[in-house]
Amino acid sequence: MRPDLLNPLFAETAGLKGVGPGLARPLGKLGLTRVKDLAYHLPDRFVARRAVANLDEASVGEQIVVALTVREHRNAAGRGPFRVHAEDALGNVVALIWFGRAAFTAKKLLPPGELRWVAGRLDHYGQGLQIVHPDHIAEGSAGLLGTLNEPVYPLCEGLTQGRVQGLVEQALGYLPKLPEWIEPGLLEKMGWPAWDAALASAHKHPDAAARDRLAYDELLANSLALLLVKASNRTRRTVPLKGDGNLRAKLRLPFALTGAQTRAVTDIESDVAQGAPMLRLLQGDVGSGKTAVALHSMLIAVEAGAQAALLAPTEILARQHAETLTRMAAGTGVTIALLTGKSSQRGGAKAREAILMGLMDGSIQICVGTHAIFQEAVNYRNLALVVIDEQHRFGVGQRLMLTQKGKATPHCLAMTATPIPRTLTLAQYGEMDVSRLDEMPPGRQPIDTRVVALDRLADVVEGLARHLATGAQAYWVCPMVRELETADLAAAEARYAALEARFGDQVVLVHGQLRPEAKEAAMERFSSGKAKLLVATTVIEVGVDVPAATLMVIEQAERFGLAQLHQLRGRVGRGSERSTCLLLRGEALSETGRERLALMRETQDGFLLAEEDLRLRGGGELLGTRQSGDAPFAIADFEQIARLLPMAHDDARLLMERDGGLSSPRGEAARALLYLFERDWGVQLLRGG
Ligand code: ADP
Ligand code: MG
Repeated sequence: MRPDLLNPLFAETAGLKGVGPGLARPLGKLGLTRVKDLAYHLPDRFVARRAVANLDEASVGEQIVVALTVREHRNAAGRGPFRVHAEDALGNVVALIWFGRAAFTAKKLLPPGELRWVAGRLDHYGQGLQIVHPDHIAEGSAGLLGTLNEPVYPLCEGLTQGRVQGLVEQALGYLPKLPEWIEPGLLEKMGWPAWDAALASAHKHPDAAARDRLAYDELLANSLALLLVKASNRTRRTVPLKGDGNLRAKLRLPFALTGAQTRAVTDIESDVAQGAPMLRLLQGDVGSGKTAVALHSMLIAVEAGAQAALLAPTEILARQHAETLTRMAAGTGVTIALLTGKSSQRGGAKAREAILMGLMDGSIQICVGTHAIFQEAVNYRNLALVVIDEQHRFGVGQRLMLTQKGKATPHCLAMTATPIPRTLTLAQYGEMDVSRLDEMPPGRQPIDTRVVALDRLADVVEGLARHLATGAQAYWVCPMVRELETADLAAAEARYAALEARFGDQVVLVHGQLRPEAKEAAMERFSSGKAKLLVATTVIEVGVDVPAATLMVIEQAERFGLAQLHQLRGRVGRGSERSTCLLLRGEALSETGRERLALMRETQDGFLLAEEDLRLRGGGELLGTRQSGDAPFAIADFEQIARLLPMAHDDARLLMERDGGLSSPRGEAARALLYLFERDWGVQLLRGG
């Protein structure tokens, strides 16, 4: 149960003064549905204004507060912007400009002949000076001098800075006094304010200590919750699995495992032999051979007389896995089945029924599928190991749910092809033990990566034509972010149309808005080699394996994160032929953007790229992280994660060592913290919690 103390923070924003149905919509869109969401809706930045006596003291482009005498209204009734001419104390004229409906209010606020204080950004317009849409107008100086440092909030349509400011202020008025969960010594050493003071201050000034404290809170909550999962997992019982090796001996793989693969299998073998369920992450770059490790692990379970399941995030991947595993395991006599959603099961309802029977009576030993494999109707005779592919698609909550399926908690092996930096691994998978595949299978051809300016598009298309003429296949990737979805989709479709006009029906298009059947049909045509060119948004990011595709073109490469580019590029270079990756860049490329693309050219080490990605993002460029949805935290940014997370994690570990039940006063405070950041699934794992 959530401590009552926190109730005011979880009250609906709809109950605040001035919030009607009209505001509820935009607030909902920004996720500001509860008081605490508003309290944590921190400014992106602050406008720093300077009070000047006259315009001679100000520079163009500067944010100022100045007293002006209103002279005349221009264009009041006509077309075009509404203009007010005003004069400073020295007689310098400045035009105040409004577009659209804002003019009505402006007109009332600026009666000719009167003195008004105006805040805004001074700009040049031809020979003259202007302020477009002044931020504030007041009769006296007092009000405006209070806005010299003003927060700028993330907004959406239907909200204004003033509105959000007012609501945030109300929300801050509801902050309860919470017990301190940060260790007092640390608080003092860092010079951090108390929680409520930190929130209040973070809305008023660019206060680094306050922002750090709030970020630290979030990181601490996260680490603590993950450690609670880990601790609770340790107290669970499951069936220890000891394979005798007979099935693995029958495997006829065309290669020997790499050192890293062997180490991972050894880790797993010793984990699953324990009485507590395994909770292990297998981290390995695209192409590092995670599937073979998964197969070995599942065979251990089958050798021990149990069943194993492999969960993939999409139907396409599930299907590919089923095919690969069936091929690899051909000599072992193990039965592998593919189970997908009702509508897409191959062979229809009858086939599905047969698989369900096979899982129940144990004649199917390995089940591969999407989340359908964990639906209510699916019962296993003896499920002892769950392998989750592309773990980053699933949150901790889902991870926990999956493990409820067997009679005893099954062992869990999570796999991810996102080589994230160590600090982020800790942040996202702190509850798991980690095996890294940091060694590529031998014989990989390096991918020839080049950065090409967009104005050479025609050459690129010619190159593509020559490539396709040899019978080889290629990918063409277009960016897609949530915020620009419509425009991005249109761009991808336009590119497809242009390429189709040139190359005919050997081109297919795949993007997120296609119906699953259409998507699958297109993918099918491409992987079977009938189609030669796949135009796609990032849906091909994960797991697709077409070795004959040896060219990849990535459009607007600067809009992708390094990790994402790396992931995409991993789709080529999978066969024995040499592969090429062309990064098409737009004209306006920032310094960091340039550096990022250069790094892509220079290295293919995913772990290195991940560390560099974090470093470059820490360097200030955010790359629309929020847009692409890959920001792992709401408050803590990448730089803070890198700097504060190790500390938060140690602190959480120490607290767990001293007070694993979170029952001391500081433990109680930490519980409140977990609820505050909605990591209460952590608390629920505490016995008697
Ligand atoms: P991942 O899932 O980690 O991206 P895969 O499991 O799909 O990678 O493996 C990529 C390719 O490498 C596959 O074609 C696989 O057969 C091959 N492979 C895996 N392990 C080895 C190995 N030890 N030696 C040579 N090739 C390997
Ligand atoms: Mg894979």
